[in-house]
Amino acid sequence: MRRRWLFADQLGPHFLDEPGQPVLLVESKAVFRRRVFHRQKAHLVLSAMRHLARDGGDVRLVRAETYAEAVTEPVTVCHPTSRAARDLVKRLPGVEMLPPRGFVTAPQDFVAWAHGRDHLRLEDFYRDARRRHDVLMDGAEPAGGRWNYDADNREPPPARLDVAAPPPIAEDEIDEEVRADLDRWEREDGITFLGNDGPRLFPATRAEALARLRHFVKHRLPIFGPYEDAMLAGNPFMAHSMLSATMNLGLLDPAEVIERSEAAYRKDGVDLRSVEGFIRQILGWRDFIWHLYWYFEPSYRAANELHARRELPAWFANLDAGAVEARCLSDVLAGVRDHGWVHHIPRLMVLGNYALQRGWRPGALADWFHRAFVDGYEWVMTANVVGMSQFADGGRMSTKPYAAGGAYISRMSDYCGGCRYNPKVRLGDDACPYTAGYWSFLARHSTELAGNHRMRRPLQGLGRLADVDAVVEQETARGSRAP
Ligand code: SF4
Repeated sequence: MRRRWLFADQLGPHFLDEPGQPVLLVESKAVFRRRVFHRQKAHLVLSAMRHLARDGGDVRLVRAETYAEAVTEPVTVCHPTSRAARDLVKRLPGVEMLPPRGFVTAPQDFVAWAHGRDHLRLEDFYRDARRRHDVLMDGAEPAGGRWNYDADNREPPPARLDVAAPPPIAEDEIDEEVRADLDRWEREDGITFLGNDGPRLFPATRAEALARLRHFVKHRLPIFGPYEDAMLAGNPFMAHSMLSATMNLGLLDPAEVIERSEAAYRKDGVDLRSVEGFIRQILGWRDFIWHLYWYFEPSYRAANELHARRELPAWFANLDAGAVEARCLSDVLAGVRDHGWVHHIPRLMVLGNYALQRGWRPGALADWFHRAFVDGYEWVMTANVVGMSQFADGGRMSTKPYAAGGAYISRMSDYCGGCRYNPKVRLGDDACPYTAGYWSFLARHSTELAGNHRMRRPLQGLGRLADVDAVVEQETARGSRAP
């Protein structure tokens, strides 16, 4: 049997044809010279590869500057997750590329579904995938009689959420060695990282991944749904699975994550609203984003329909939470700095929303998300950031820009009470940067957004504001300064 070359995001058993298949892993320091990644992401990826090399049987780990140097024998490889890696694989002699793994739905099924549609909407794709893969279905009907429990899953945060924390990871000598190597690379090779080092928070082995999955399904999934969109300053993880980094490393097969979650509903009576909300994130959103990366043209990443041209300011790009007074933004930046992870709402409604309001370049923001998050990869961040978060594709995959003022953050978090700004104020010293930024964004883009029926009411609201020019002036004067 030919050796299977596994990329660093293909580390689980579902990337092999059978247990014990010989494996090739390539560890390239050059990757870290090309881009500044979060320190904990670099640690996680190297730790996961080295653990597999130690424990995975016939595994050859080659340290090389380039992949071409390391791949010296005929190998097979599953379709990689970026265009650059796919093109490289095609160029290398003796490498046979197999169809992608690590996703539930097949590329040809997505293409057949998408063909002829003007707009690609998650909800349509998700229902098709549920039917096709018989997930949460009772015959031809969705379990419980509804496809979507989103409306039940938008509760504001409780005063406190008592939920079992994910079990801690016991670091070992491989983590010690990785940490020493990263320190040395910084000292001697001029390689730099983003964010703070810290105890490894995410699984690097299959055993750790399965333990986290079991723990989540038993303890956290039952209350995931209602509060999945809420934010609590003192509890960044809430009931989120924190399994995205694990699935994106390939340590868990999303199909097994879905299967266990559905079993929790069917056998253990876990609330369908939570189970459906969670499965939607994986079978729906994760697969949808993956297919969009390949379906849209390569230039999609540079799409910029709202002509957002400002570069990311250094305080944001370098995770300088201490430079920020706005409590929500400071707390979320600190979360990224300390863990390389915050959940989807801080990403979308605090980080992405702030960038959208200020007209930061979508491609640069996508690259930052890719580098700063432990679960960030080019395929994940392209449509998520360029399309959904920044509306830079003009609405090819979402129906409206995710712009919101302080009222949204105030309703969905406990941040505003302790903030020096006031979410209700848009002008003056106490003006909430999100509220002011929201109206300024609408004013600057009212012409482009006028034809969007979902923006009609916000634009009507804008028309009633007497002080909008002063708000735009104030926000223009704020420029790139940290709020
Ligand atoms: Fe964030 Fe504005 Fe609330 Fe402060 S007042 S926490 S800046 S939304």
